[in-house]
Amino acid sequence: MTKPESAAGVEAAEAASNGKPDPDSFEVRRPTDGTVIDTVAVASAEDVAATVARMREAQREWEAIGFPGRRHWLEKLRDWMLDNQDRLDDLMQAESGKVRADAALECFYCLDAINFWVERGPKFLADEVVQPHLTLLRAKRAKVVYRPFGVVGIISPWNFPVILSLGDALPALVAGNAVAIKPSELTPLTLMEIVRGWREELGAPDVLAVVNGMGETGGALVDESDYVQFTGSERTGKIVMKRAAETLTPVSLELGGKDPMIVTRGADVERAANATAFGGLLNTGQICISIERVYVEEPIYDEFVEKLRAKVEELRQGDDSDSHYTSELGAMTSPAQTEIVSSHVEDAREAGARILTGGKRKDGPGEWYEPTLIADADHSMRVMREETFGPVIPVMKVKDVEEAIELANDTKYGLGSSVFAGDAEEGERIARRIDAGHCNVNDVLVNYNVLGLPMGGWKSSGIGVRHGAQGIRRFCHTEALTIPRLPQPKSEPLWYPYGPRQRGLVRRLYRFLSARGVRNRIGL
Ligand code: NAD
Repeated sequence: MTKPESAAGVEAAEAASNGKPDPDSFEVRRPTDGTVIDTVAVASAEDVAATVARMREAQREWEAIGFPGRRHWLEKLRDWMLDNQDRLDDLMQAESGKVRADAALECFYCLDAINFWVERGPKFLADEVVQPHLTLLRAKRAKVVYRPFGVVGIISPWNFPVILSLGDALPALVAGNAVAIKPSELTPLTLMEIVRGWREELGAPDVLAVVNGMGETGGALVDESDYVQFTGSERTGKIVMKRAAETLTPVSLELGGKDPMIVTRGADVERAANATAFGGLLNTGQICISIERVYVEEPIYDEFVEKLRAKVEELRQGDDSDSHYTSELGAMTSPAQTEIVSSHVEDAREAGARILTGGKRKDGPGEWYEPTLIADADHSMRVMREETFGPVIPVMKVKDVEEAIELANDTKYGLGSSVFAGDAEEGERIARRIDAGHCNVNDVLVNYNVLGLPMGGWKSSGIGVRHGAQGIRRFCHTEALTIPRLPQPKSEPLWYPYGPRQRGLVRRLYRFLSARGVRNRIGL
């Protein structure tokens, strides 16, 4: 059994999310065939409190060593991940069911993100000098200082078990925080191995920890943390936010999506079809920013659907953990998600959509759902309104761009979007009218790799952003400083005691400063 960070000693309590007590351990299974890889002990609320208390101690020194000291350790982690990537990719494939190429993305992202945050973080968090707007206050130096919260709690989902946990931990660490992560109970193993490497092989400071478990452990982490970064479903996000309200702990929530793609009559149909296949099916469609619905203008609809069908039918699905890079699609990671995917496809079928390819689970053990293309979808169908989060691409014919924009915005979500248009200008015009956190023009998913761009959702897709300056500043308090530039008198004219003469002067001063025009300023 793999041990959690601190002694197990679990007392069963009510799980906040489903009313059932958390067990004292859970099994991690291979989605490709359902066999057990490992059993992991659950961290109780007491374990979480002890872990966070220990990290709170270590955080002081971590903050004190400054950016160069933190950079030293994070660059060591980068090099350790580079040296161990094959082993990490093996573990990732085993616990997630991803194909090799998709499993490798987890390390690639983190390697790039370490470089990005250690290089840019100090600039994003540099003191900001503010020029006082009143001339009278120019004798002050005013500045904004960014100070780390302390211990950041990260609660993460199963679809990108390292990117969405360690990936968010990196800016928090660079900012000077300690980080405790509660990974998904479906996929904790690769992250646990990275944290083991950090502590045992690198001997790095005790500022990165994993607490394993389900709802109860996640809830305890919310209670103990100074800031909470949650990535997961809208439903759990609301539970987390409610719980954080009890301690007024700030949160950012990265939640679900139903990302639209619009393809206009002037678009390069072949590129649009290839992009749809990739953007809709990467990671077997289990990406919050997957293309989840496609609106295509009538004149090119048939050609687009035919090209997309050909592309999807070419794709290989299977376990390539031994053969490496011989499959494009892997297994579904979560059995519960496979049920949702299946129900959306059946609902569309019954409502009259055409299932052009796929549309069913594969026979045999494991969580296999075929890559599925649905034509003639419409908004009466669940597959166009609810998050599917699987290898399913529904396509709908629209009469023009206006209808496409209206339908794209007809959703409670607002995470991302894509537009394929005749030229970049037309694409940008449409992009600016889509109500979502990002829009890729003539491309898909690429915004996630532009780490300088904020990434976050509107509406039910979340609160706050990762990436960009805001992506690291969110892990900091701001402290506003005023510092004198000149020697100071014993008292100030505005201080006590009040009196009619002094207040009269103050009134005239305020008038002079607030009014516009000379006559008005002097009260004529
Ligand atoms: P989930 O909400 O079921 O679980 C997410 C995490 O929350 C897990 O670690 C889980 O154990 C934990 N959790 C469960 N109950 C809890 C509670 N009561 N208190 C605290 N923590 C609790 O989500 P999931 O099924 O793991 O992930 C899929 C969802 O994540 C999808 O909706 C997807 O769109 C979303 N997602 C969003 C982004 C983004 O950046 N916006 C990225 C990836 C995934």
